[in-house]
Amino acid sequence: MGVVNLTVTPGRYPGVMSFPLPTSLSPSKVASFKDCALAFRFSAIDRIPEPPSAAAAKGTLVHRALELLFAEEQAQRTLAVALAKLDQAIPEVLGDPEYVALEFPTPADRQAFLHDAAQLVHKYFQLEDPTTIRPVGLEMRLEVPVGSLTLRGVIDRLEEDEHGDLVVTDYKTGKVPGVNQEQSRLGGVHFYAYLCEKVLGRRPAKVQLLYLSQPMSIITQPTDQSIRGLQIRTSAIWTAVERACEREDFRPKPSRLCDWCSFKAWCPAFGGDPDTAPTRRNEPVSVRVGRNPVDVPA
Ligand code: SF4
Repeated sequence: MGVVNLTVTPGRYPGVMSFPLPTSLSPSKVASFKDCALAFRFSAIDRIPEPPSAAAAKGTLVHRALELLFAEEQAQRTLAVALAKLDQAIPEVLGDPEYVALEFPTPADRQAFLHDAAQLVHKYFQLEDPTTIRPVGLEMRLEVPVGSLTLRGVIDRLEEDEHGDLVVTDYKTGKVPGVNQEQSRLGGVHFYAYLCEKVLGRRPAKVQLLYLSQPMSIITQPTDQSIRGLQIRTSAIWTAVERACEREDFRPKPSRLCDWCSFKAWCPAFGGDPDTAPTRRNEPVSVRVGRNPVDVPA
């Protein structure tokens, strides 16, 4: 198996870095920098808190229900058990500090939110039979240090297929991407494949995105070429982040994403001034410890 080392050179501009570099890179950070460098700065460098969103809470809720489902023995993984796990997850997720401020305008809105989450769990069962899945890890946090940078990601589910090969599965609760965005969405799972190879010493035979809303699976097989491509793209993003930090130059990139952006008030594309944003960039970083992943059956 050909393995190419990721070329990341943290601290390549020693002494001249104006903005502090983030210390870690995840698939979501890579995607957010590509979507809009200024929004990345507000989130990853200024660390401006964002209000909780119902869509993110729904995604977390469904992920947690499926995580709890796969902690059960294979024969127990029925739809009824999955819905019971969803009920179990509701107070846990909505009571979490990340979502506790989430407000529903009316009780009917809350009901609709919970109904949508249950529908996603129903649709999951149209994609695969969970009694046939042999997970070896759930909500697995994988980290690879590269110099002073840490590449990190959380794998929703890692399992072994009938041949004993590893499969990475990522649940998606948002809309299915168009054909043109498919490859970029797979970038995240290739990132996870890279982490698996580095941490576990085994390249997954398959990575798959399960889009529960449709429902639809997007499946690919990591190869030397895809891993090398991931490494090249990640190195390029990191170089761009370094350069932007050095030059204090994070440019806005207006798109449809602006409709959901929490940082509009300080965005020059909307008449704002980034220098007036409530930055926490010089405050020490506190690491939030999330809930523990559940154990999988042996
Ligand atoms: S409003 Fe749009 S352009 Fe401005 S920071 Fe947010 S995503 Fe970027």
